[in-house]
Amino acid sequence: MNQDWHEENYRDLMCVGLRVQRWLYRGQSEFQRIDIFDSEIFGRVLSLDGVLNTSEADEAFYHEQLVHPAMVSAKHAKRVLVIGGGDGGSVREVLRHSSVESLVMVEIDGEVIDACKLHLRSIGSAWDDARLQLVIGDGAAYVARDDLDPFDVILLDGTDPEGPGEVLYSAEFYANCRARLAEGGVFALQSASPFIQRDVFFRIQQRLRAAFSTVHPYFGPAPLYCSGVWSWTHASEGQDPLEVNLARLAAIEADCFYYNRQIHRAAFVQPNFVRKGLAALPTG
Ligand code: SAM
Repeated sequence: MNQDWHEENYRDLMCVGLRVQRWLYRGQSEFQRIDIFDSEIFGRVLSLDGVLNTSEADEAFYHEQLVHPAMVSAKHAKRVLVIGGGDGGSVREVLRHSSVESLVMVEIDGEVIDACKLHLRSIGSAWDDARLQLVIGDGAAYVARDDLDPFDVILLDGTDPEGPGEVLYSAEFYANCRARLAEGGVFALQSASPFIQRDVFFRIQQRLRAAFSTVHPYFGPAPLYCSGVWSWTHASEGQDPLEVNLARLAAIEADCFYYNRQIHRAAFVQPNFVRKGLAALPTG
């Protein structure tokens, strides 16, 4: 890699380059390559295996959209599970909800957390919250356990479907997440770019539909990610994502950088190419 640039090469078809002002962390963990650097446009950036994962400048677009739609539409929001999320941004957003009594975070790579605690404190600002229980381990193995108390909300903040994150895109993993949900619970995940990763996006939709009766993708910008057009998906047994607990929403709305009640509704509006793609998905 050119020392002055971080280049994310997407399938050898597209490259996103960021000029590096300063490298802060460069390491190879048991699971992946970890790089943290300063950039002019996005501020401090985390890259894993050469893929841009989060940045100080745009992380709120992503973390607020991953966390709040599920937290305000689940029946309860007391027991929460975050899978992945090593930068701490999802945890920070979950713990803004005073309804949360316990939050379990299962991250496979402790070195990512350590590096982010050292160099990305602006994103992971809730590591010391007493409600947080940190588990270093594989999220897929964790949700396969049947001795866990059910969760009101499960959030998947994982990497792309390669390397350690691949297992987090399987039908079995989604079925286990379904089994770990409490009545009225919601599972939400980042579901790739519906534009540049169309195959991944529709495969996720199809597998989620096999595990959950109610599946709603939603959309928004993610400036750091390839194409900038991103999706998340809300999955449950009958929870309507537009039926929100207004008190829970109002309690966090004003302090959000991106998310609010109008954005919440607009995000679930499906563009035509998505509607047609979903209608064409094989059933059963
Ligand atoms: N928002 C980012 C994205 O969409 O690319 C993800 C950010 S977060 C840093 C992703 C985290 O998922 C990483 O810290 C990675 O180590 C973790 N991860 C990957 N596979 C995992 C697994 N099987 N179980 C738990 N955590 C995993």
